[in-house]
Amino acid sequence: MDIQANAPLVQMDKMGHEQIVFCSDPSTGLKAIIGIHNTVLGPALGGTRMWMYASENDALTDVLRLSRGMSYKAAISGLNLGGGKAVIIGDSRKIKNEALMRRFGTFVDSLGGKYITAEDVGMTTKDMEYIHMETEHVVGIPESLGGGGDPSPVTAYGVYMGMKASAKKAYGSESLQGKRVLVQGAGHVGGYLVDHLVKDGAHVMIADIFENKIKEVTDRHPKVEVVSADNVSALEMDIYAPCALGATLNDDTIPQLKCQIVAGAANNQLAEEEKHGKMMIERGIIYAPDFLINAGGLINCYSELEGYNRERALEQAEQIYDTTMTVLDSSQASGKPTYQIANEMAEQRIEKIAQIHRSL
Ligand code: NAD
Repeated sequence: MDIQANAPLVQMDKMGHEQIVFCSDPSTGLKAIIGIHNTVLGPALGGTRMWMYASENDALTDVLRLSRGMSYKAAISGLNLGGGKAVIIGDSRKIKNEALMRRFGTFVDSLGGKYITAEDVGMTTKDMEYIHMETEHVVGIPESLGGGGDPSPVTAYGVYMGMKASAKKAYGSESLQGKRVLVQGAGHVGGYLVDHLVKDGAHVMIADIFENKIKEVTDRHPKVEVVSADNVSALEMDIYAPCALGATLNDDTIPQLKCQIVAGAANNQLAEEEKHGKMMIERGIIYAPDFLINAGGLINCYSELEGYNRERALEQAEQIYDTTMTVLDSSQASGKPTYQIANEMAEQRIEKIAQIHRSL
């Protein structure tokens, strides 16, 4: 039989996925794919993304990539969670309604807790409420329903911890006093991150493409410097915190960077992991791996499963400091890029726990 190189089973095999579930319901128009990458450490947790994919193959590639990323994020954060993700194919502004969301909830429920969903791009808290009407296996629901609410403060705290560990490595002190820190993206996470940085005495600069986002932050912190959102990578700064988009570390931006540290919340900051991770090492810039330092959101979701407790979630996010330090020390000793060290640490934890289970 001729199996195409991009056929689902071939792709799954390459990335080591356990299960892919294709969901279709013509009556509501639902077309979705649930990707379960690895459940060695626990149930596969990861958000549902709703997006107008150009093809079903693009949707599959995205869910495979994202669900594997969740396994790594959970593993390196010491959580007893596996990695999963779901994608719903379609325009969230046009086809989304209660029935479609609840039908998706029934598919999640049919997996019996092997996959736990949450909010992601194109989804809202209201959608989570609809899904919750059909399944218990959902987190990120409002506080009024026993959930953890907005995870951004915990994410921002984790990013701040990763940044402080990076500062300790670069400057010998974790204090950010007087450091020029650029926060790109004054959104949910960026805004809370600025609160920590200002408190620490950093010279904070913010960039956003929306005036109202800038104003929300400058109303709280009038001394924050507002900079243009164009070409931020060329700015004079000590620390660059990408908190908007992915792929901001690429062929064009890395040669321009004047900072010593990159530590931010955005997912997939390295446009190409291998190539750009290596370029960061060659430039002598510390890169705090995104999936490690932005794990506060996942930590917040995990806390929901145990009975939500924000204090406990923040305590766990604080451990991002130590893990970042371990990654940076190991990168320095081995000369390997930080993202690679973090990937290896995640893989090793999964493998060690798998061995325990195999020997039972
Ligand atoms: P958000 O949408 O609230 O904020 C993003 C901000 O970036 C917005 O204010 C937007 O206007 C701004 N922006 C967009 N393009 C820009 C550009 N070119 N230059 C400058 N600003 C730009 O999102 P968020 O929840 O704060 O998340 C920020 C990033 O962190 C995202 O990449 C997200 O995937 C990642 N992340 C978030 C969480 C979380 O808990 N919210 C957890 C993990 C990772």
